[in-house]
Amino acid sequence: MKKYDYLIVGAGLYGSTFAYLATKQGKRCLVIDKREHVGGNLYCENVEGINVHKYGAHIFHTSNKKVWDFVNSIVEFNRYTNSPVANYKGRMYNLPFNMNTFYQMWGVRTPEEAQAKIEEQRREAMEAMRREGVSEPRNLEEQALTLIGRDIYERLIKGYTEKQWGRSCKDLPAFIIRRLPVRLVYDNNYFNDKYQGIPIGGYNKLIDRMLEGADVRTGIDFFDDRELWEAKAEKVVFTGKIDEYFGYRYGMLEYRTVSFEQETLDMANYQGNAVVNYTDREVPYTRVIEHKHFEMFGQEVYDNPKTVVSREFSTEWKPGMEPYYPVNDERNNSLAEQYRALAAQEKNVIFGGRLAEYKYYDMAPIVERVMDLWVF
Ligand code: FAD
Repeated sequence: MKKYDYLIVGAGLYGSTFAYLATKQGKRCLVIDKREHVGGNLYCENVEGINVHKYGAHIFHTSNKKVWDFVNSIVEFNRYTNSPVANYKGRMYNLPFNMNTFYQMWGVRTPEEAQAKIEEQRREAMEAMRREGVSEPRNLEEQALTLIGRDIYERLIKGYTEKQWGRSCKDLPAFIIRRLPVRLVYDNNYFNDKYQGIPIGGYNKLIDRMLEGADVRTGIDFFDDRELWEAKAEKVVFTGKIDEYFGYRYGMLEYRTVSFEQETLDMANYQGNAVVNYTDREVPYTRVIEHKHFEMFGQEVYDNPKTVVSREFSTEWKPGMEPYYPVNDERNNSLAEQYRALAAQEKNVIFGGRLAEYKYYDMAPIVERVMDLWVF
């Protein structure tokens, strides 16, 4: 008999949730991660007493009570509510598009006035297309204009989207924006989910609790000696890159990535909000995250005289860079299908998580998928 029931490759949320549930069932787990820390992309570094989301801002949100109760049974969550603000050439607008935004944009006060303004601008966009003999939006710009009108498109969508994709909206396909939800209420809560928050004490606390009872080794790349690691356990849970697992035999899957410029500032409160989007083209970054606002509220932010901010830049991914978002185009989707077919034949391996499934998942669905494996 081997020493462990499971070798878990990757100590991110998938691997950690798996280790937690398996350990509870009396299984012995060995968790390895190639990074020097556990937590995967949820990992936070403590800087000046502030939990800094090193791999991008993470807000847990879900409408699934089972998942919410589960994570709260491990660590309590705070009341953080995501309500980003947009800065367009120095003017501030609330997001997502709601009555506050429409008031800031046009001075309209009632839902009826806002609706009329949006309709007027949508009509203008459709008439402009008709004049050109076009019936269906040919690109993202036309799609956005017909869904929401010129003002919102130009101030809040165009520059941000072009920075994100590194291309003009006229050269991006229309399908990227299928709908643009508009809220005719004064509500800045970004998510529609029933529950949201950040673990009190940060994500590391959640992950550390999940990994209690498992043996954990960091700084170890599975592929440096896969036979050695495989020999240690009856089964493998693999949460790394699926193409790497199969030696890139059909080619390499591509990703989009983000890079961060982090700065510690000698002030208590830089921007008054966790997330500010910069929606004009001239500012090179897409967002500025001020991390303390995820866990400190109201005047509490002044208890710490320092603050940490991260500027986010959309960056083209190259091999060796941090793989963040899968690219859902034809080439990558069909490549991923080929790899998934190979994975289905591996009897003793569970492939799970965003890299091994080559799918974007928020955190709650990741937890839910692992819970489903353990029949909750
Ligand atoms: P990961 O966290 O990537 O874990 C995989 C782990 O495997 C990593 O630690 C990696 O080092 C390790 N590994 C890989 N290969 C090997 C190997 N060969 N050997 C050993 N170890 C290996 N979700 C939300 O719900 N809310 C948000 O606000 C949110 N914001 C996000 C922002 C960004 C920028 C990104 C990219 C994602 C965001 N997400 C958010 C999604 C969230 O990050 C994922 O749901 C979650 O990280 C998935 O966990 P995972 O375990 O699948 O992957």
